[in-house]
This record gives sequence, structure tokens and C-alpha cells, in this order.
Amino acid sequence: MSDTSISIHWFRRDLRLNDNHGLFKALCSGHKVIPLFIFDADILGELERGDARVSFLHDTLSEMDAHLKSIGSGLLILHGNPLDVWKKIISTYPLAEVHTNSDYEPYALKRDAEVRTLLQGKGIAFNSHKDQVIFEKSEVTKDDGLPYTVYTPYSKKWFSQFDAAMLEPYASEELEHHYHRFSKVPQMPSLADLGFNESALKVKPYHLEKERIAAYEKNRNFPAQNGTSCLSPHLRFGTISVREAFKRTHKVNHTFAKELVWREFFMQILFHYPHVVSQSFREKYDRVPWRNDEREFQAWCEGRTGYPMVDAGMRELNETGYMHNRVRMVVASFLCKHLLIDWRWGEAYFAKKLFDYELSSNNGNWQWAAGTGCDAAPYFRVFNPTSQIEKFDQYKQYIRQWVPEFESERYPEPIVEHKMARERAISTYKEAIS
Ligand code: FAD
Repeated sequence: MSDTSISIHWFRRDLRLNDNHGLFKALCSGHKVIPLFIFDADILGELERGDARVSFLHDTLSEMDAHLKSIGSGLLILHGNPLDVWKKIISTYPLAEVHTNSDYEPYALKRDAEVRTLLQGKGIAFNSHKDQVIFEKSEVTKDDGLPYTVYTPYSKKWFSQFDAAMLEPYASEELEHHYHRFSKVPQMPSLADLGFNESALKVKPYHLEKERIAAYEKNRNFPAQNGTSCLSPHLRFGTISVREAFKRTHKVNHTFAKELVWREFFMQILFHYPHVVSQSFREKYDRVPWRNDEREFQAWCEGRTGYPMVDAGMRELNETGYMHNRVRMVVASFLCKHLLIDWRWGEAYFAKKLFDYELSSNNGNWQWAAGTGCDAAPYFRVFNPTSQIEKFDQYKQYIRQWVPEFESERYPEPIVEHKMARERAISTYKEAIS
């Protein structure tokens, strides 16, 4: 092997320098390692200039770069269409091999297939590793080898195959002595260089402390309480490894571990059934004649429906990039059932705003709420947005925080009457699918 040849680890949704499978393999390769991140111009082009996720990404990459610089290295950060960027990289560096962590979304699979073909054409190996899940693709299937489409049997099989040894970290940090192998690389671009502004919205730290995870069932449904882990943006961007998240929690609270398995369930659904990106999982639900009233949709987006739990959730989302899971279910059900607006409209709005936006979980949960998905709430289950307050925000702390005017004259009348809307939803769905 030549002294001058280079390995690249290509970071995507795995933004950390420790317990990173692909980086670990690159560091073990025996070549100098260049850590690479590509700002994908096609993805950035679709985002608003003040997108908070881009700020978070940039902050995280800056921290990684600073650490790498402190040991004589640095991140190579490039910007453009990934295939074009890779063409330039090939002509610049004496590449021996490339490592990356697998991404299962349709866009990523297509991009990686193109990059793999390009590299292999030049005799450069493209190695994709499992990192963002414990079980990927077809590793958990029914006995006949077909994918599960119902969560409960999937999770039972998942746990029956699970072994704590799978959580052993890829100790990339123990390879610090290999960091001298990183080549010196140019300054990273500023947010402004990328055409973006700094956002005031920030990702919250995650909480995996024993007390919080042990009390998870007791607190998780109450949006006014800090009862959940706030882990989702960190799993999305990989600022914590899923192995570490499991390691710290699976013996403390099985219910919590099962939530992490929901994430993997929806990832394998998207992988096996990519039609869900644009269609209902269950085809006949594409016959539902959505009303799609633009003014009502706008009122929903802005938190002006006259239903305080719905409005609080939407305002929390708009102001912070977060929304509590209980409230996500309420606002999603309200949009699809009370207003009979296509779940894809709501899904797209969440995709624009959520810090933790992830195609598989967002799509899976929207289809769950709309009743169109694989393991979905039945169409005749319509959340009552008022009784949800009595159950989960009895003292209206959450509502007061986000809708301070809700008991005043300034608060709008309900956009739609509950009983009528419920009956309209049930009869519309029933007629469409029968
Ligand atoms: P915790 O309650 O602490 O749960 C721990 C982890 O388990 C989460 O971080 C997440 O990785 C996983 N998890 C929990 N619930 C779910 C679930 N229902 N589906 C999949 N994984 C789950 N989650 C996303 O990560 N990205 C999304 O884009 C997304 N969109 C959603 C859209 C709707 C309409 C609904 C109802 C839910 C959506 N969720 C999404 C799932 C869930 O709301 C969030 O994962 C959760 O609120 C994140 O907060 P937390 O990390 O404090 O969760």
C-alpha cells in the first residue's frame, strides 16, 4: 500500500468523532484519513435562508473541525452537487478507499449508488457501514423473510435478536494516535459563504439521565413537563450514536427502548416501501377526497384554529423547531380528520420546521395519524382536541405558555365544530375506502 494514498470518511448524518463506525474503519485502513463533509447544494437549495437546521449543522461541524485542528488535522468541507464534488476529489487526492455510514432514504440511496459507480470505475472502494440503527434493511423480518408492517411483532422480533454486545462502541477516539494521518485541509466556509443566516433557534441538549428515563412512562405524555429525552435531533444528525443511546437506557426502561425501536421500524418501512414518500401505504386511502381548504391550512400552520392544544403545538413548532409527541398526534389528527386536509401537506410543513425532521419517522407518523399508514390508527379514531387538554394539560400550563391570549376575546372561535367535523371525517373516509 502506498504511503501517499488516502482514505476518506464521508460524514453525513453521523456528526461525531467517537463511536462512529465508518470513521473507525477509515482510521483502521492504514492510510492517511481525510474527514469530509459535503454541503449538498441540491438539498440546501430547497431550504429557507434562516433554516435553523443548517445553523446547527454548521455549529456542529465547526466544533468537530476545532477538535481536529487541535490535533493537527481539520475537516474538509466542500459545497456542491455530491457527484460533481466527488469528481473533483478524485482528481485532487490519491484516493485508496472511501468509508461512509449507510443512509436508507431514497434520495441518499440513489446518490450513494452514483458515487459508488464513479469511484469503482476508478478502482476506489466505496464502503458503506451500518451506523445509524441497530438493525437495518432486512435484518429483522418475519420468518418467511418478508418485512414486518406491524410494529408489535416487529419489536418482539427486534428484541429477540438484540444482544447487548451490539452496543459495543467503535472506539474511534481511541485511535487519536492515528489522527496524525489526517491531511491538513482548507478553512471551513462560513454560514454566509453558504448563503445562509445564523438562526436564533437552538437544539436542546439531550437527557438520558437515569431519573428521567426511569420516570419516562409517568411523564412522557404531559407536554408541560420535561419528561422526554430530547434525543431526536441528536439521533437525526448523529451527534450521539444510537448504540450509546441504547446502552444508557435499555436496562433502565423498556418502554423507552421500544420508542427507539419505533424509529427503526419506520426506517425499514421506508426502505422496503419507498412508495410511502408520495402515496398512502394502503393504496385505497389515496381515494380520500381531501377538502384542502388553503385558508384553514394557513390557520393551522399559524396556530389560529381556535383549538388551544392545536394552536399551542403549532406555535411551539414555529417558535422553537420542537413539538411534543402527544401534541404532534393531536395537531396531525386535527389536520387530516377535522379539516380533511391531505396528510402530505402537514408532513411537508413539519419537514420544513422540525429540528428532528427525518423522512421515515415523519412520514410514518403522519400516515399513522391520518389512518393511511402500515400500522395506523383506524380512520374512525378521531382525537378530541378538547378532551386531550383535560387528560394531558389539565392545568393548562402548556397552553398558557404558547397561547397566552386563549381565554381572552382576542382568541379566535373554533375554525370548525368538533362533532360535525368528526362525523364528516368518518363518513368521508368510510365512503372513500369502501
Ligand atoms: P422521546 O419520547 O424521549 O423518545 C426517544 C426517541 O425515540 C426519540 O428521540 C425518537 O428517536 C424515538 N421515538 C419516539 N417516538 C417515536 C415515534 N412515534 N416514531 C419514531 N420514533 C420515535 N420523530 C422524529 O425523529 N422525526 C420526525 O420527523 C418526526 N415526525 C413526527 C410527526 C408526527 C405527526 C408525529 C406524531 C411524530 C413524529 N415524530 C418524529 C416522533 C416523535 O414525536 C419524536 O421522535 C419525539 O417527539 C422526539 O422527542 P424526544 O426525543 O424527546 O422523544
